[in-house]
Amino acid sequence: EIRSKLVSAQPQMQKSETLSAEDYAEYALLQRIHSLYNSESSLKNPYFQPRSGTVSSVLQIAEKDYVTFSNYNYLGLSHDPRVKAAACDAIHKYGTHAGAARMVGGEIELHRDLEHALAEFSGFEAATVGVGGYSANVSAIGYLLDKRDLILHDEYMHNSAIKGAVMSGARRIAFPHNNMEALKRLLEENRSQYRKTLILVEGAYSMDGDLVDLPAVIELKNQFGAWLMIDEAHSCGTVGATGRGVCEHFNIPTSEVELIVGTLSKSFASCGGFLAGSKKLIELLHHFCPGLLLYSTGISPANTAAALAAVQLAQAEPERVTRLQNNSILFKQLAETKGLDCRTSVPGVPIVPMMIEDEKALQLMSLLLENQFISHAVMHPVVPRDAARLRCFISADHTETQMSSMLDIIARESNTTNHTVAGQ
Ligand code: PMP
Repeated sequence: EIRSKLVSAQPQMQKSETLSAEDYAEYALLQRIHSLYNSESSLKNPYFQPRSGTVSSVLQIAEKDYVTFSNYNYLGLSHDPRVKAAACDAIHKYGTHAGAARMVGGEIELHRDLEHALAEFSGFEAATVGVGGYSANVSAIGYLLDKRDLILHDEYMHNSAIKGAVMSGARRIAFPHNNMEALKRLLEENRSQYRKTLILVEGAYSMDGDLVDLPAVIELKNQFGAWLMIDEAHSCGTVGATGRGVCEHFNIPTSEVELIVGTLSKSFASCGGFLAGSKKLIELLHHFCPGLLLYSTGISPANTAAALAAVQLAQAEPERVTRLQNNSILFKQLAETKGLDCRTSVPGVPIVPMMIEDEKALQLMSLLLENQFISHAVMHPVVPRDAARLRCFISADHTETQMSSMLDIIARESNTTNHTVAGQ
């Protein structure tokens, strides 16, 4: 009887209906993708295609070779036998998982080795490593700032940094992309009103392939006593004469920067994220930043070992960085010679966007697939409306023929009228 009374006292749960476009703006995009790539359509669906084999400049889908410009393999280390062997050895030695949060039993020797290697590579006093670049950004920004603080960030910051800024509770203001006048104005208007002001920028911008104006940012941060955090997800390993990132590129001491966030998934052939900065700051984050090492399991032995081997190889073989930068310069040159608009991307940065109206971009992705090339479009809401683009990631592995052949297709198609799309 008691049980039946308890049951009848439960509030009646409302079963939620289907997903709606009112609740989720992205739902409209999903419906559009479904209508474009349905079973009656002649267009190949470029999303979630499972590959087999490793990633180099070529990968396999259903036993066919495709040249890819959608994968991060900047330094060509994803398929390096030494990186793979290091991951296999780590599994044999430590098993497949860390087994706990690092502080309480999940620590393996390799974690420390990787942190030392990353600190040395990036030129900072110390580094700390967690399971993802995304969570490193969210956690560090969310932890370090609070409602007493101000965050001034470039409007093109990655979603993870924005999410961290929102989570922190700090006042958050975006400044127009790379606009140092606007940043200065905001610093002036808000001078001395907050405990701490954090300027958030990316080293190389992930949608545009351009670089932060670091000398100007450093001047402003020093003038106004602000902190600077740089997301070096795409610039660590790729930018600067030996790939050490934007400080090396602009010849600025790393001591001018409070914190960088980096990822192991782009240059370093693995999965995970890291933060690098002064010993004092990193020690604090290492012990207390929730979602990085605390309240989250340590990065797996295989991922740790692969990243460690990749960082050591990036350091020992700087010719990889040179090859990547030469490829990136050539790709942009070829694209522009063929009449494509690569926006403000900086020659040598391994992200090259090509502006293409979004309906056409959706079709072009399929056409490229039919021709055994992979390149994905980025559309609203990831980029502003009317700023859709095909975004290519260049690798040290790409050949001139691979780059030129794909660009020929893109150039030819972007000058023709739209295909008729079945199912629309
Ligand atoms: N920052 C930037 C600029 C990125 O582009 C990404 C991922 N694409 C991240 C952070 C997140 O890194 P990860 O993929 O390692 O989670």
